Amino acid sequence: MLVAVGTRPEAIKMVPVIRALRASTRLRPLVVSTGQHRELLAEVFDLAGIRPDVDLAVGEPGLPLNHLFARVLSGLQDALAELLGPADSVTVDGPAARYPAWALVHGDTSSAAAVALAAFHLRMPVAHVEAGLRTHRTATPFPEELNRQLVARIAAFHLAPTSLNEENLILEGVRHEQVFVTGNTAVDALLWAAATARPSGLPELDALLADPGRPLVVVTAHRRENLATRALGHVAAALAQVAAERPGTAFVLPLHPNPAVRAQLRPALDPLPNVLLTEPLPYPVFAALLGRAALVVTDSGGVQEEAPALGVPVLVTRESTERTEGVDAGTLRLVGTETGAVAAAVRHLLDDDRARAAMAAADNPYGDGRAAERIVAALEHLTFRTPKPARF
Ligand code: UDP
Repeated sequence: MLVAVGTRPEAIKMVPVIRALRASTRLRPLVVSTGQHRELLAEVFDLAGIRPDVDLAVGEPGLPLNHLFARVLSGLQDALAELLGPADSVTVDGPAARYPAWALVHGDTSSAAAVALAAFHLRMPVAHVEAGLRTHRTATPFPEELNRQLVARIAAFHLAPTSLNEENLILEGVRHEQVFVTGNTAVDALLWAAATARPSGLPELDALLADPGRPLVVVTAHRRENLATRALGHVAAALAQVAAERPGTAFVLPLHPNPAVRAQLRPALDPLPNVLLTEPLPYPVFAALLGRAALVVTDSGGVQEEAPALGVPVLVTRESTERTEGVDAGTLRLVGTETGAVAAAVRHLLDDDRARAAMAAADNPYGDGRAAERIVAALEHLTFRTPKPARF
């Protein structure tokens, strides 16, 4: 099994799959890091004791997406040729016997789309983990939705987190037997992270984690569409208003490394004593922080799946989301990015214990912590005709 990972969120969500493959008696992982976000990815792998078998190291800040694609396409071909023998021995019937039986890619990154295409050219069947999420908005300059759809057209098998994701694929003409519903591995990862919890090394943060009495709002903000529209600045202004009104409430925002993101967030938030802006936090520390939060404000995809698993209400600072199950279940609320609307939503939830409790009590539609196990069992079933596992 070739398992491709390019960014931190992919690493977090693929670690449970790599661990389940390591535990399998039938399948073995061959881990390929494309290195789209090299440092944050390495940190997650180190934590899980995973060393990539292949490191394409294609990433560098500001690398144009066409260059990233080109480097992954030729880099993967060359690396596999070096490791496993040349691809020209690949036959029309399928990959050479020594090539992996499947290439697993995750989600919606450009690195995942590039690996899927490279695997197709090498005649390795592609299995798509976290398949079937859709905004149906391809007419934007942001590549995620197109990447998802590209991978879906290439993939021979689709591991869909929820039945809604499965329906999206069926509506696009994917056959029923090509999809398996697993739950999202984000929940598996979160349970793993909770078991490896450790102090952050930041005294202010550790004090907050140890003081359950102080209301805590956890914020992440970096999505490209919010950066491009300067919406990050509007969200920061909203949070600054609420933080200034409530000095007893703590706000923690780990900053994305991108300096342009920081430039929009810092001016409003830097001066406030009850707002803690940190560097990106190690995943187990961030997971502990989420578990302690009264409320999360985020434009991240993964955090929309993780916080509901911990029973924490989420305000999503986007105009649309591909994770509508959480909105329907009542655990996510889409609030847009307009300053007044975001501030009002945060105030309302901080003040209204019952509204917060109702959101927290909603069922988590994203998983039960056993998605990776189902993914590996489904791949074993496809490859070796072992019994078919039960779906999520
Ligand atoms: N995360 C982390 N440290 C942080 C902030 C986030 O480990 O300081 C984790 C978070 O738990 C989630 C993932 O990073 O699993 C989300 O990544 P991001 O928001 O970059 O991407 P997205 O989920 O939108 O693809």
